[in-house]
Amino acid sequence: MKKLLFVAFVFGILNLSAQEFYCGTVDDGSMLRRLEQNKKTMRSSLGVRDDTWLFIPIEFHIVTKTDGTGGIDENRILDELAHMNKNYSGFKMKFYLASDFNYIKSSSLYSDPGGVFGVPKIKVNRNKFPHAANVFLVNEMSSGGSPGQVLGYYAPALDVVVIRNSQFGINAQTASHELGHFFSLMHPFYGWDADPYDPAKHGNPVKIQTVTYAGQTIQIELMNKSNCDVAADMLCDTPPDYNFGISDPERDCKLNGPILDYNHDTIVTMENNYMGYFFGCGQYEFTPMQIAAMRADYLSSERDFLHTGIVPDSAAIDPSTFHVNYPENKEKVEYYDYVDLDWDDMPNATNYEVIISPASQPQNAEKYFIKGQSHLILTNLVKGKKYKWYVRPYSNAYTAVPKLGGYTFRAGDWTIGTDDLSDIADMNIYPNPVNDDVIYINFSKSSDDAIIEIFDMSGKVVDKFKINLKRGINKLNLTHSNYQNAMYNVLIKTKEHSYIRKVFYGK
Ligand SMILES: [Zn+2]
Repeated sequence: MKKLLFVAFVFGILNLSAQEFYCGTVDDGSMLRRLEQNKKTMRSSLGVRDDTWLFIPIEFHIVTKTDGTGGIDENRILDELAHMNKNYSGFKMKFYLASDFNYIKSSSLYSDPGGVFGVPKIKVNRNKFPHAANVFLVNEMSSGGSPGQVLGYYAPALDVVVIRNSQFGINAQTASHELGHFFSLMHPFYGWDADPYDPAKHGNPVKIQTVTYAGQTIQIELMNKSNCDVAADMLCDTPPDYNFGISDPERDCKLNGPILDYNHDTIVTMENNYMGYFFGCGQYEFTPMQIAAMRADYLSSERDFLHTGIVPDSAAIDPSTFHVNYPENKEKVEYYDYVDLDWDDMPNATNYEVIISPASQPQNAEKYFIKGQSHLILTNLVKGKKYKWYVRPYSNAYTAVPKLGGYTFRAGDWTIGTDDLSDIADMNIYPNPVNDDVIYINFSKSSDDAIIEIFDMSGKVVDKFKINLKRGINKLNLTHSNYQNAMYNVLIKTKEHSYIRKVFYGK
């Protein structure tokens, strides 16, 4: 709770206008301590500067309103991950998806992640992913009464990054900036955060040598580098910045000078530093010392939890290897409650997102996330309706390919449950309804290896088996522990034929 009050206090004295955007990171002392430690490592160790890849597991938390609406589109996360990996690749740091997206339904976290209800939700969810950098994506965040807008922040006490959904996408720098904080970097204008340079107040030449921020007296960095090791962000290759970017009216990535420091030296700042506030710079950069500090931070014992030993799948996926097998573009399929969308495996893709919507209502798209296979069985389409579908291939560290396809098909007029009885004599499942965790399959063809998949009505696989089906009665123990009283589709694929049967599970 002490932390919360502190944030409110700092935001409360910000002197900003309504159009100003800023980062809400406030050091609780631990960032500076880690930075000092990392600087020691940088001085004593060459290892930090070497060119081995450092792999960073990252967990994205998609926060929605309590009713499940409003969360960020997963595609924007995949886009941003590709963007971050591009930004960090020059110094061989690579982010990879630690696991599936984590969805959190909480209106309080959605709109006030720093509030008394938001913070405990962040803690609980962060603790579910102890071996990752945790990033929470929310709709808005409190600016503590200031008219400016907080775009994101790193919370040192929670060790998480929180970012506004609007900042997540291919052209924003916010995520790369906040991950810089995660790895101990300060703002190059540290000390001027809440009270940006104003010639009327601070003079030109600047007439003061220190600023007060967060209860500390901080040296103002000079152009002659005499105090660069202890002033502002304490890194000597980031030149003086007195928070010039936040009040740059043109947002053109250019300091309106000349501005003279305390020694009357003309300030040459670095506008396009990721950790600064200048907008519109096109390509941003980290300096060599910032890079070394981030690498040292990653390698420090405090970051042991990131060292999973996993080498992520980062080989590029070639979009031209996308090839649809079924259905053909504009085809009308036979059934409406059983359509097996199928495409070729794409080299280096481990995951696929399938996006499907009625062709006339792209806003009503449903998304399916598939691992380790390149087809999707749909059982919930509407009779005779035209659909459009896309496939986005990715792996845990290569997410740069956009959605592919955009083909259409029309759902059939038939239901597989009652109309396709042509193979009914060959395969029969009982009892139906299933009332125990055992089903029997009566098979009248000759013995064959089979894959059996049980789908719920949303098309999700809930149980899967590989068995040798023998002629006669085969017993199958259901392994999934959470069958609901509901209808399921059982798909039995042998080399010769695929059988689909509806069973009702009820106890
Ligand atoms: Zn920041």
